[in-house]
Amino acid sequence: MKTLLPTSTAGSLPKPAWLAEPEKLWSPWKLQGAELLDGKHDALRISLQEQQAAGIDIVSDGEQTRQHFVTTFIEHLSGVDFENRKTVRIRNRYDASVPTVVGPVERVKSVFVEDAKFLRQQTTQPIKWALPGPMTMIDTLYDDYYHSREKLAWEFAKILNQEAKELEAAGVDIIQFDEPAFNVFFDDVNDWGIACLERAIEGLKCETAVHICYGYGIQANTDWKKTLGSEWRQYEAVFPKLLQSNIDIISLECHNSHVPVELLELVRGKKVMVGAIDVASNSIETPEEVAATLRKALQYVDADKLYPCTNCGMAPLARDVARGKLNALRAGAAIVRAELAGK
Ligand SMILES: [Zn+2]
Repeated sequence: MKTLLPTSTAGSLPKPAWLAEPEKLWSPWKLQGAELLDGKHDALRISLQEQQAAGIDIVSDGEQTRQHFVTTFIEHLSGVDFENRKTVRIRNRYDASVPTVVGPVERVKSVFVEDAKFLRQQTTQPIKWALPGPMTMIDTLYDDYYHSREKLAWEFAKILNQEAKELEAAGVDIIQFDEPAFNVFFDDVNDWGIACLERAIEGLKCETAVHICYGYGIQANTDWKKTLGSEWRQYEAVFPKLLQSNIDIISLECHNSHVPVELLELVRGKKVMVGAIDVASNSIETPEEVAATLRKALQYVDADKLYPCTNCGMAPLARDVARGKLNALRAGAAIVRAELAGK
């Protein structure tokens, strides 16, 4: 029997302090060589155990083997020069020093497939694997070769499709593409962003998801959110076209955000991963708060299509906070599950 309201996370979870400096993005590794490889696997096992101990239904690697959700993928490609860095404005929001595209981009070998196989060996639960989306990838680079955002995005879509097919063969049940850029570049999203995403999932038989959020709880994002006004209607610009796409699941922000919940109506018919956990706050939600968010979402999402989730990754949070939030997610989903069963 299929679990109703299966819980999952958007992807990343905090790393242990012996592996990387905690509560920080792009935190450098503390180990090297073979020790680093071992350390990453140990951290993946711990992250999985913490999800299992919290009762999370669809588990992930907690992104323990990657330094950053976009950069680590790009590091594995040819055509990108990591020495030759340029400062660009990411998602029109903050400046970051990023690598430069200097030639044709190609995936010379698989990126996460071995890690996915390792996770698959550890559990029989459904597993979800996150990859960066094409548009978010081009936004985290300086392009000195293609001189076209769209052209580069299509190249990345091809590469992501190769990786996704191997992840599927490794036993991944849901492949998720992280596209926070979908919340910023609306015209491009509708012109070619969603088409590129569909290129990335071409031929896949496993389920596919797109995660569109307002970012990690870091200062640059918090400042940006202050400029968005009292109602965040960004989803309105891209949901109609996403509804028509082949993507199975849409992962979005809900709890504590200023997204009007009725915007979920725009994707009725799709499965929706509803963010019921705020990743930009250290205060741990009560199960009742989680349940309240899910009940609101149920007005617009059919119960069999609702997947309780976190708003975004929890990598920058303290570990005990993240654990508390996982427990709250499970407990809140359980409340609503019981209510639905009683109907
Ligand atoms: Zn996110």
